[in-house]
Amino acid sequence: MSKVLVTHSYFYKFDPKQWNTGQPYPPLGTLYACSYLKSKGLTVSFFDTNLADSTEEIIPLLESEKPHYLVIYDDSFNYLSKMCLTKMREAAFRISELGKEHNCLVIVSGSDSSDQYEKYLDNGTDFVITGEGEITLSELIKSIDAGADNFEHIDGIIFRRNGITVRTKKREILHNLDTLPFPAWDLVNMDRYKNIWINQHGYFSLNIATTRGCPFKCNWCAKPIYGTRYNSRSPGNAADELEMLIKKFDVSYFWFCDDIFGLKPGWIKEFRDIVKQRGLKFRFKIQSRVDLLLKEDTIEALYESGADTVWIGAESGSQKILDAMDKGTTVEQIYEATQKLKKKGIKTAFFIQLGYLGETKEDIHQTITMIKDLLPDDIGISVSYPLPGTRFYDIVKNDLKIKTNWTDSNDLAMMFHSSYSPDYYRKLHHLIHGIYRYNKGVKVMKSFITNPLNQNFSTLKAALSSFYYLPWVFIDYIRLWIIRIEL
Ligand code: SF4
Repeated sequence: MSKVLVTHSYFYKFDPKQWNTGQPYPPLGTLYACSYLKSKGLTVSFFDTNLADSTEEIIPLLESEKPHYLVIYDDSFNYLSKMCLTKMREAAFRISELGKEHNCLVIVSGSDSSDQYEKYLDNGTDFVITGEGEITLSELIKSIDAGADNFEHIDGIIFRRNGITVRTKKREILHNLDTLPFPAWDLVNMDRYKNIWINQHGYFSLNIATTRGCPFKCNWCAKPIYGTRYNSRSPGNAADELEMLIKKFDVSYFWFCDDIFGLKPGWIKEFRDIVKQRGLKFRFKIQSRVDLLLKEDTIEALYESGADTVWIGAESGSQKILDAMDKGTTVEQIYEATQKLKKKGIKTAFFIQLGYLGETKEDIHQTITMIKDLLPDDIGISVSYPLPGTRFYDIVKNDLKIKTNWTDSNDLAMMFHSSYSPDYYRKLHHLIHGIYRYNKGVKVMKSFITNPLNQNFSTLKAALSSFYYLPWVFIDYIRLWIIRIEL
């Protein structure tokens, strides 16, 4: 029986911003690949790069296991893998080289290898898997094991024959996700993750996916693995996994890493009913869209299921920019959904994107106003990042000559000609964070003054932070003025 060593190429320690948050999540997509291969009778071992210090840490496993196959299978549920960061690509290349040095056949699957497959093949990768990978991977390994020398019949792979790159037919997506085995959680060194979470946050959180794909068409959003179809596990199947994880690993908080949580009509309500019936107690965070949150009693059902935080792709406070992105939502919906979530006590967090094509000072003002008006509980600010396969990328691809990918998730380089300079956006990024923190501090300060008995240490800390941020906000405005663009 062939031995398969499965790994991936994301290292938290190569991405200081993420490492410093102290919120590592096991590579869910990779664990799905492991469990699927195991269910097909293959002997699977796993090397988790997430918390490793170096690519070379895989060597002892290559030496002891002597695997026939080395599979670098990225976690395509995690947005960090979807960012196609060059530090992780370099890591994938090095791991692939180590695999070749140990006589492995190397197979790679992920967003970056799907986009840049020629680079991976040049580096010695034998096969690149495109699209949803579990079935493709298993078919490929079985076929090689059976001695095949022709692989055109296997959908969803790219390889070279006689120096010519061959790409087979697109792999049909999986419709019934309940047929998949649960991720191979048993292969994870859970204590390492748990210790980090407990030490830094006082609770343990794991990730879970209930869907694959997203049918919306925001024109900068790349979906190279699960695409624009949307398939969902049944609420009962998802609850089975949650129940197992709570019992086995004492998890109290989940990140549902779906692009869109509970898009299918009635899904969230059915999920809520099952969670209540089984008496499952946990908090969770999701990603959603404001238009969907406002449908029927979705917010109520989220609240009753234990929702803690909803991350919203707010992107911009300018309707013109939302329309240019083909976002399909309105600024009014952002206001309404945020207010309704707040009323229910559910935290709201905004993804904000600066620098989209055609953005003016007026659009930036509207975004700042929206943030000040709504003061979400958290905020993630980024700049537009053209990824292959998107309409946005096609528009700006001629600009992408020197740099085409971010180095790590804090890179935030503007790689195309936007309205203002890259330096301007770097300063603006800092300024908006400062304005946000300052206004949050002021709000807490006000509630501190009006209701001093109902406060605790963390609210005192938040209130005092406004004193810290005020001078920074002032300095940032000056810096922007210096580069001669007044807000
Ligand atoms: S809704 Fe989210 S996942 Fe879907 S296309 Fe838009 S940004 Fe991408």
